[in-house]
Amino acid sequence: MANEMAAPARSRPVNAPPSFHLLAKPSGSTCNIDCAYCFFLSKEALYPNDKHRMSAETLESYIRQLLEAHRTPEVTVAWQGGEPTLMKLEFFEKAVELVEKYRTPGQTVQQTFQTNGLLLDDAWCAFFKKHNFLVGLSVDGPRELHDAYRRDRKGQGTFDLVMRGWRFLKTHGVEFNILCTVNAANEKHGRRVYRFFRDELGAKWMQFIPIVERATADTLAIANQGWSDRPGAGGKRLLYTQTGDLVTERSVGGEQYGRFLIDIFEEWVRKGSYVPARRPSTGRSDPWGSRRYKGSAPRSRGTASSAYRACRRRTCASAAKRRDRAAASSRYCRASPWQNLNFLPAARGQGA
Ligand code: SF4
Repeated sequence: MANEMAAPARSRPVNAPPSFHLLAKPSGSTCNIDCAYCFFLSKEALYPNDKHRMSAETLESYIRQLLEAHRTPEVTVAWQGGEPTLMKLEFFEKAVELVEKYRTPGQTVQQTFQTNGLLLDDAWCAFFKKHNFLVGLSVDGPRELHDAYRRDRKGQGTFDLVMRGWRFLKTHGVEFNILCTVNAANEKHGRRVYRFFRDELGAKWMQFIPIVERATADTLAIANQGWSDRPGAGGKRLLYTQTGDLVTERSVGGEQYGRFLIDIFEEWVRKGSYVPARRPSTGRSDPWGSRRYKGSAPRSRGTASSAYRACRRRTCASAAKRRDRAAASSRYCRASPWQNLNFLPAARGQGA
């Protein structure tokens, strides 16, 4: 890999993509906690006697080649783990220096950083703010949902420490998003999880990733104990290889994952968390951004909620019961600026 990285940029194939997204894991699979579903912790078995740390030389080659390889003016430098804060702040201060050294005139660089949040403090967050990092914070929901699988090496939940890290991010005004896994513990709580992120943490951006851990009949019992540093009874540990037709008991079911996302979507629409486009001539809003109402989009919060409630109160709910899409779209809603919202209850009535 080191030789490959040392190749000059002019050797780039002519058909190479103009831009791409690469996740760098400078601490390898090393982490300071021990999530039960973490497929990555077991990967250290692939590199025995390796310290799992990106060297200063590799860091410089990586940044230089990443910037040289882009033919677009925007480049994303994305850091992930394991837990990247284990590399210490100085490593990333050097990375920022190298970005300044190698970026070409006119090239803009966005740095992103995914963390479990445990080591965040004033120094980290001041650094993120100063260099305009976008930070992803891993949280699985309110305390008991988060702590179901995201535990430290002593088996203790990490919720309090993650919230401590979140407070540092907020205090310093760091732009952040939430990365949430959807698993057997939180799969029935989509709305609650979403409300926690939106209302308690003030998150504007969220990602929901399904936990689907594959296993075979032979490996399932061990896999159910976790892939982590401290597997359960028996003390055996597996290298996770994504094989088998079975899944662990931590995995989210397909239907449950769909319901989780639907619950969030409906909450998002009903509570007006999204920003509808407004029709300039009438002031009416188009929740789905149809061509008919195309126009500028001033921010407008809360109006979707009230329009939707009014819509349901009058005719849409009864139309949905009859699975009557035509009725739902013709009676009240034709007069409503929110015509398209009536399809939500209709769709639910049809079992979507
Ligand atoms: S925070 Fe959890 S999921 Fe992420 S690398 Fe560490 S142990 Fe794995």
